[in-house]
Order: sequence, then C-alpha cells, then structure tokens
Amino acid sequence: MLELDSHPRGRHFLQIPGPSPVPERILRALSQPTIDHRGPEFGALGLKVVGGMRKIFQTSQPVIVYPASGTGAWEAALVNTLSPGDRVLMYETGHFASLWAKLATRLSLEVECVTSTGSDPVLPHAPGWRRPVDPRQIEERLRRDGSHRIKAVCVVHNETSTGVTSSIASIRAALHAAKHPALLMVDTISGLASADYRHDEWGVDVSVGGSQKGLMLPPGIAFNAVSQRALEAAKTATLPRSFWSWDEMLESNRTGYFPFTPNTNLLYGLSESIDMLLAEGLDNVFRRHERWGAGVRAAVGAWGLPIQCADPAAYSPVVTGVILPEEVDADALRQLILQRFDLSLGMGLGKLKGRMFRIGHLGDSNDLTLLAAIAGCEMGLKLSGVALAGSGVQAAMDHFASR
Ligand code: PLP
Repeated sequence: MLELDSHPRGRHFLQIPGPSPVPERILRALSQPTIDHRGPEFGALGLKVVGGMRKIFQTSQPVIVYPASGTGAWEAALVNTLSPGDRVLMYETGHFASLWAKLATRLSLEVECVTSTGSDPVLPHAPGWRRPVDPRQIEERLRRDGSHRIKAVCVVHNETSTGVTSSIASIRAALHAAKHPALLMVDTISGLASADYRHDEWGVDVSVGGSQKGLMLPPGIAFNAVSQRALEAAKTATLPRSFWSWDEMLESNRTGYFPFTPNTNLLYGLSESIDMLLAEGLDNVFRRHERWGAGVRAAVGAWGLPIQCADPAAYSPVVTGVILPEEVDADALRQLILQRFDLSLGMGLGKLKGRMFRIGHLGDSNDLTLLAAIAGCEMGLKLSGVALAGSGVQAAMDHFASR
C-alpha cells in the first residue's frame, strides 16, 4: 500500500505555490455526504458558487465552473473562441506561459511568442523569466498587424514558475492604444483570490482560474470568466469542442445545474471558500498576501540570495523564487529540506530546473507558519553549505513584528 500519510509528527509544511494548505473549515465542508446532483439541494449550491465566483473574479459576467485542473480551463478558453489556424500572440514569462503556448499549438492554432528582450547576468539563459509582460512589445506587435490576423493575446497574470506578476490593466491599455480587436485572455490560476484581479475593470475577455491556489481548495475545479465579446466569438469559433463547450454549461447553470456530473463535494468546499474570502473582504485578502510576500522577500534579501523576479514592481504576492549559486543543486537542497524538516518547496521548472526553489505564501498560512517555513529553508541552506549573508528568519521576524 502507498504510504501517503507517513508524516512522522506535527504537520507537514506544504509551502509550494499551489496546491496550497486547505483550512480545516473547508476540509470539513468537503466531507459532507455526497448529494444528488440533479436534486433540489444541488441547484441551490450550484447557483451559490457560480454567483459567488463572479464576485471573486470581480465581474458581473458569466463564470463557468469545470470539474478539471487549470489546464482544462486553458483549453476551454481557446476552443470556445478560436478557429483552426487562428493566430494567437502569447507572451513567454515563464514555464506556465510556455505550456499554454504548447497547448495552443497542439490545438492547431498559429502561435507567435514574444518575450522580454535584454540580457541578464544572473540567469543569462532565461532573461525573460525574470520580468513581467512588457505591454509596449504587445502594442508594437499589434500595430504591425494591420489586417488583424491576431485573434487573441494570451498572458499569465501571476507566473507561478517565477514569482512575477504582470499588469493586466497595462496590457489592456496596449490593445486599446493599438486599436486592435484581438481578445484578451488571461491565466490567473495562481493570481485569483491572492493578487488583485479585476475581470471587468481590466477588460479581460476570458480569465482562466483554478481551485488549488488562493481559493484554498484541493485541485479539481477550474474556471473561465467570460466577456460578452468572448461569447460573441464563441458563436463563430470552429475549433472542435464538446465537454468544454460554454453554451450547454451556461444553459444548465441558469438553474444551478450542470450538463454532466459536477464534482459535488469540491463545490461544497468552493462554497465555503467563497464565504471565507468574501467575509474577509477581497482587499484584505490581497493585503494579507502582499504582507506575506514582503516578509519572505525580507528573508531572502537577508540571506543575500537573488530573487527570481528582477523587477520589484512585479514581485508576486503569492510565490517568491530564490536563485541559488550555480554550484548548488536546488533539487538536492529541496530534497534535504523535505527529509529533515518535512517542508515541501516548489521546484525550478523548465529552464529553471535545479537553479532555484520557490516558496509559496498563499492558502491557509499565517506569520508563524511562514516563519517556520523560512527557518526550514535557512537550516537547509546552511546544511547544504550555501554561504548566507545573514539570518532570513530574523529579518522576517522583524518584518512581521513591525507591521
Ligand atoms: N497556469 C499557472 C499559472 C499555474 O500555476 C498552473 C499550475 O500550477 C497551471 C497553469 C496549470 O494548472 P493545472 O496544473 O491545475 O492544470
């Protein structure tokens, strides 16, 4: 039998940038008896979560809830709005932006990727993975597309692989400035309910979300928030779609139901998560994550190690990437920290494999659990022979105590 519950004592520190630690209140909600998904009780639950998610996305437009991981909602955004051979402009900020581009290519879309230009002395092989989307590059490319071949611009709001957040309002402004009709699609899988996100105000056409990050749920629910323009585009889009099709979903959702069997128990959890987040107030939720991010960055600064995000204006409130000296194997360090201190850290993905680790600061956390996670990192770094400039734990304690 698999020994999945083999933590020796105390609680495991799940400090990856999602799935995030799930609050007990949500775990209890998940454990309610499963109900008939076509019965009267379910309709009320369905209406509640669909309506509640509009508040979380800060939209008055439809939100579609899929029993899927975030990757499914990426696919749903594209297949509902585009046709084979359509050109999409994607901006490579990191591993997840590249994966979305790969998925689009597999769907027979013509993908054009741009990335941040310039060199980087710390990570010369991946300079674009330290910076946010530069809206000027998008504007410049769209201005050259006089025949409007580009049908969609796709960006990642919070790039989980790097800890870099991009300004969606500025990207929307770039589309306006270029007077280009392309749809704006945004992956906010790790931004939603942690970093400020405004689907309507920022004029996003399709927002893609997931359950396992700021919503503090296990993986298994994914979302598309859609604009009227996206719904219009869906009327003529010809990419094949069935399970992901918005039309039947929206029809069933009117009365709180789904065209197929939804993940009933996870939706109990989603209902609880929405209650918790709205009771706290979204602005407070965003402030809480900003505060945690600043505390973790104070620790990394005290260690004297470079933060993956090279632009302080784009620091993620959700995850901080820490670059290690070239001679240190980041994966060996993470393994040591897991074995010795029962602390899981995010690995370097794609071009960053082995060069960095990521500390997630989201989900069911608080100042003290974060301090413990920082202590685990600091002990692991010392045990691995990494020369540290000072104590990150002390810096983070000072940060949290003074605010
Ligand atoms: N996009 C971002 C920004 C992510 O962080 C992730 C997963 O971590 C994904 C997409 C893919 O989502 P999933 O693994 O739930 O399919």
